[in-house]
Amino acid sequence: MEEENSETIYVLDTSALAFINSLKGFRRGYIAEETKKELRHFKTKLVFEALIHSQRLQVKPVNKKFLKETVKKANETGEYLRLSKTDLYTVALAHQIKKEEGKKVIVLTDDYTIQNLCEHMEIDWKPVKERGIRKVAKWELKCTSCGKIWRNTEIEICPICGGKLKKRMIFQDNGETKK
Ligand SMILES: [Zn+2]
Repeated sequence: MEEENSETIYVLDTSALAFINSLKGFRRGYIAEETKKELRHFKTKLVFEALIHSQRLQVKPVNKKFLKETVKKANETGEYLRLSKTDLYTVALAHQIKKEEGKKVIVLTDDYTIQNLCEHMEIDWKPVKERGIRKVAKWELKCTSCGKIWRNTEIEICPICGGKLKKRMIFQDNGETKK
């Protein structure tokens, strides 16, 4: 994935509005007209109003041509039946902006079917909810003579060759599921 920058355009789905507590760092976001019509919850509406008010979010109609292409792709990949109308409009809008403006577009969504369809259409996406820390730091010792790595950080010299040990920090996956 390329780096995001101030030119990056975000397309939000309903889940993004529901969980976007930090309001991310985006300056320019869009939601599809159909998504706006589907906003039911008080909190999502509030977030929506706040973003519109600060001019960081705009409502944009989806062009039929791009919707058709998205539906076609959804059918090909077998995702069609699992996608709601607004899901399709969200991806179609991202597809449309990417083609029309030629800028980097990221769909903010926690919906797996939308994420899948984005993958198939080569549209970048990002989850909204914080997933916690994925890497945990651990200490280990490396022998400066034989190179053996020791997880037991209580020892002072290498049990094999008697060499000096050097402490280093490593980062390990904490086992949480990614993406
Ligand atoms: Zn050693």
